[in-house]
Amino acid sequence: MGQSMSDDDLLPVEFECVYCSTRHRVAGQYAGRRIHCKSCNEIIRVPGGSLDLAPPPTTDPRDVDIDTLFGDSP
Ligand SMILES: [Zn+2]
Repeated sequence: MGQSMSDDDLLPVEFECVYCSTRHRVAGQYAGRRIHCKSCNEIIRVPGGSLDLAPPPTTDPRDVDIDTLFGDSP
C-alpha cells in the first residue's frame, strides 16, 4: 500500500564498489539491496533505501505489564 507512486520517482543510485572502486549506477529500486559487482563479482550493498532511514525497533521493557510476565504463577 502506498508504493504505487514512489517507484517511478526513484532516482538512479551512483556509488563505488568498496572492493574495486568501480563506479556503479543502478536503478533507485535497488537502493538498500545487495548486488554483484560486475567488475570484481563481490557482493556489495547499494547505499540508500528505506532500510537506512527506518530506526531500529526499540522495545522498552518498562512498557511491558508485569502481569503478562508472571500471570501464570499461582
Ligand atoms: Zn567491485
